[in-house]
Amino acid sequence: MPSTSASSKTENQPALKRPAGLEPIFQPVTLVTGVGNAAAKALARLAGPNLIDLVWHLPAGLVDRRYNPTVAAAEPGRIATMTLEIGEHLPSRRPGLPYRVRAYDETGGLHLVFFQSRAPWLQKLLPVGATRIIAGKIEAYNSQKQIVHPDLVLDPAEKHRLKPIQTVYPLTAGINGPQLERWIDEAVRQAPDLPEWIDKPLLKREAWPSWHDAIARIHAPTEEDDLSPLTPWRRRLAFDELLANQLALLLVRERQRRAAGRSTQGTGTLRAKALKLLPYQLTGAQRRTLAEIDADMAAPTRMSRLLQGDVGSGKTVVAFLAMLNAVEAGRQAALMAPTEILARQHLQTIAPLALKLGLEVAVLTGRDKGKARTRTLSGLAEGSIKLVVGTHALTQDPVEFRDLALTVVDEQHRFGVEDRMRLSNKGPKGSRGGSDVLVMTATPIPRTLTLTSYGDLDVSKLDEKPPGRKPVTTVALPGDRLDEVVAGVARAIADGARVYWVCPLIEESEVSDLAAARERAAELSAYFKGRVGLVHGRLRGPEKDTVRAAFARGDIDVLVATTVIEVGVNVPEATVMVIEHAERFGLAQLHQLRGRVGRGSGQSTCLLVYSPPLTETARQRLTVIKDSEDGFVIAEKDLELRGAGDLLGTKQSGRPDFRIADLEHHADLLEIARDDARRILSTDLELASARGKALRTLLYLFERDAAVRYLRSG
Ligand code: ADP
Ligand code: MG
Repeated sequence: MPSTSASSKTENQPALKRPAGLEPIFQPVTLVTGVGNAAAKALARLAGPNLIDLVWHLPAGLVDRRYNPTVAAAEPGRIATMTLEIGEHLPSRRPGLPYRVRAYDETGGLHLVFFQSRAPWLQKLLPVGATRIIAGKIEAYNSQKQIVHPDLVLDPAEKHRLKPIQTVYPLTAGINGPQLERWIDEAVRQAPDLPEWIDKPLLKREAWPSWHDAIARIHAPTEEDDLSPLTPWRRRLAFDELLANQLALLLVRERQRRAAGRSTQGTGTLRAKALKLLPYQLTGAQRRTLAEIDADMAAPTRMSRLLQGDVGSGKTVVAFLAMLNAVEAGRQAALMAPTEILARQHLQTIAPLALKLGLEVAVLTGRDKGKARTRTLSGLAEGSIKLVVGTHALTQDPVEFRDLALTVVDEQHRFGVEDRMRLSNKGPKGSRGGSDVLVMTATPIPRTLTLTSYGDLDVSKLDEKPPGRKPVTTVALPGDRLDEVVAGVARAIADGARVYWVCPLIEESEVSDLAAARERAAELSAYFKGRVGLVHGRLRGPEKDTVRAAFARGDIDVLVATTVIEVGVNVPEATVMVIEHAERFGLAQLHQLRGRVGRGSGQSTCLLVYSPPLTETARQRLTVIKDSEDGFVIAEKDLELRGAGDLLGTKQSGRPDFRIADLEHHADLLEIARDDARRILSTDLELASARGKALRTLLYLFERDAAVRYLRSG
């Protein structure tokens, strides 16, 4: 059993001090010569507030300054660097025309051309009769050569500042290229040598440079290939970042385990009864997952487990059986869903079964008000209610549990990590705190993202579907064949099918899309009189329930919906899914939607109706969906089509934000980093060894300070 005092001491420790070696690069950019307040603001926007942010600002390209022709020989279209004598200034004769300056060498002359530049500034920059080194792109204009806005003007006395190869960086308003290059150079020069944190054999095998050499090299490309994500220096820095990420996640997990766990072990009686009541046998994957959960709950540490399972893989029943484990131990369990409709859905699945076991399941959502709500709150606080299903409302302040042992969070990626923690911290009052946490997600997450975003969780996979599921026939067809779709639906209904009909809702134009859904429902009603219902986000909860219940009972055959049924609705008799504007949906959404059918014993069909012309990506998405029903395969394709950063979507939390690493190119390093982090913590949990200390520096370097705070000694 972990000592509580030790853990709370860790928690109350003051913010730890950054290692002295890092101080120079964690200073504000204003310390660089020439960076004033305005430039600092622009830099903060572009890269960040400190010197280290400049170090992480990677080059986008390079300019070769080694082409030094005479004026006569200079080829239009090329970037040239020439030493010229400044001649006559020709100010703009009318607004809109440029200010021009003549410049010569012994072979001829050209114009330096400036739009909207102030004369005094130009006279100072290019004094008549002076010699200047000038670089820029040679253009031909009216049989004259010219350079528009030279990108470099230097006094020959400053010749040493001219680099043969100049590095080009992503810019922002208020900063020019040579300035930024100079500032980044200075930031790199300020960067200290740091103790090596990478394992020697790995360093040797990959032939990686030291951290300091790597940052110096990454900012000094001499040819295009040097900019590739696959150079040894870029890979080394990417590995550093991934290692920091993995170490931080594992430290957070260790901290959770150490700090706030207790053993919950049921008697198995309720579960045995429940299993007898179920009309089916658990799959092997379900049994294995339950065993993993039981072991976690029985351990004196706190469970943090991610349960991944494709749509329809049977997560809910696993969650329920785990919840019974808590009840058998005399404790409470809560299930939190991301939406009202999903919470009600879970309630409908769980409550009848619980009732047969003599258990009440309370519900708590934003919709539950008044007396019922008060009764639920007091029941949870005094412990008479053992099971509760709800939404985000469960995390709110008035909700107190007498003895919460298990928190199940469905569809975690819609919740912030904080929400998950907030609910699980409503564990037994006045005792060690948190409950065990089981996170369920129906969005199969590719391994790379599981590692980078959910690395603080252990993973169980329901990779086996309940038996008897038939594959869904998926067909794509253009919107002008809607008549055929309606005819097909009519035939299916005549055969007793129930049909989902999805019209996408696009946020910006909610009203008009809603109008489209209404119109579609009206049109379909003309064919299927009295057999069509409509659900959409504007309906109040009870109204939605009414329509959905009618569909579940078979009082209506067609359920027209915006995307609200996207997740979790379970009507085994529904065998047809029509998705209009299928091209507007992402792969994960399409997979989720299709997962609503194919749940019963009947043969199911999914019709993807699209509006041509399709973009290439949309075409590929539809092909992927037609060709596969395996959520994990689809998720991997999604990753390919969208890129890693985008997969979890913009609104979703837990998305890794890497500055150097790029999962498209560095996925192999992620695996190594994960294994390495595991190995390190298994022998040096407090990062106290020499390498451990170097790794602390790494965590600070990538600003994973919070993770360092979880270590016992600074
Ligand atoms: P998920 O939540 O993973 O999408 P559900 O838990 O809703 O999946 O299960 C989908 C359907 O499969 C439900 O109707 C459930 O009763 C049924 N089911 C779950 N486990 C099994 C099983 N082992 N054998 C047969 N049917 C099952
Ligand atoms: Mg436990």
